[in-house]
Amino acid sequence: MAPDPDGFPLPAVIENLMRVSLREAQGAATAGEVPAGAVVADREGAIVSRARNRVIALQDPTAHAEILAIREAARLVGNYRLNGLILVSTLEPCPMCLAAILHARLDGLAYGAREPKWGALGSLLDLSALPGLNHRLRYLQGGVLAGEAQAQIRDFFRERRKPSRLQGEPPEAPAPPGAPAPSRGPAPAPFP
Ligand SMILES: [Zn+2]
Repeated sequence: MAPDPDGFPLPAVIENLMRVSLREAQGAATAGEVPAGAVVADREGAIVSRARNRVIALQDPTAHAEILAIREAARLVGNYRLNGLILVSTLEPCPMCLAAILHARLDGLAYGAREPKWGALGSLLDLSALPGLNHRLRYLQGGVLAGEAQAQIRDFFRERRKPSRLQGEPPEAPAPPGAPAPSRGPAPAPFP
């Protein structure tokens, strides 16, 4: 498939990559991790690396899908800079991941659902608008298959709430519209 004239990936290429990221995110959910997935690929859609959120499995608060995908891509490419590649993530990246995307010199980013609590592209803050950054994304698109990423998050937290109901606790009230989404990690343990 030929790249489009202004050098951006074709929408069909981005959608195919997002479907791979969504499968990664589903794998995270199955493992009990908040569903988030990411792939690093070239603009023709050839995948270099793919990853899912693994903060619990690795006991690593930085083990977000985007970080793990970037780390693996850099290892495979043999360069700490990933010029010419793009990242496709199921969720709006957090500030840590967006900074990593910029440090990696990735060409572009596509993401699915907004992340109201931690999103660094207009939700919590907009890192891409900071003046003085010496690297900018040539390609940036949000909302790609966003409904599917949102459904993964909704289903994940719905499942997680079930056991407490079985123990006789009242069900949690649904969040009001516009309330922040839960963060990717587990809730901190309460003090004894
Ligand atoms: Zn992140």
